[in-house]
Amino acid sequence: MRLEKCYFCSSTVYPGHGTMFVRNDSKVFRFCRSKCRVAFKHKRNPRKVRWTKAFRKAAGKEMTIDSTFEFEKRRNIPVRYDRELVNTTVKAMKRVTEIRAKRERAFYKLRMAGNKEREKAEFISEVQRNIELVQAPGARVKAQVSKILEKKTQKQPQQQRMEIDS
Ligand SMILES: [Zn+2]
Repeated sequence: MRLEKCYFCSSTVYPGHGTMFVRNDSKVFRFCRSKCRVAFKHKRNPRKVRWTKAFRKAAGKEMTIDSTFEFEKRRNIPVRYDRELVNTTVKAMKRVTEIRAKRERAFYKLRMAGNKEREKAEFISEVQRNIELVQAPGARVKAQVSKILEKKTQKQPQQQRMEIDS
């Protein structure tokens, strides 16, 4: 049993799933679903389509260079069946996936570092730009009333003085 990779999105194609296209130069293309096959037929470049693994790797969004990828390489040399070897391989697979998951988490953390501060600064500047939308209508009325009151209190002492003069 061999798990193939989708030519377009690089997801795993399990036996009995997806479709296969053989070009007339006998190159084999495997697709996980019709979405990928149709995109290939339309001559889309997987590196330019954002949802593919190829794009994510090319854009530096995912881990590309790592020693854990070495284990999953396609080998065309058949290995003689050996019970011990199978046992150790299964054990190694678990450990390798563990290690890779850990490294991927670290990579993600590193990539997202500083995002929160940037977002916060963006939010603050947006609020400051449109402050009149955020302010409650009651607060605006209050401010107007207090302005009027201030004007009145400023005028009153002058009037009193005038009365005293006359
Ligand atoms: Zn696919």
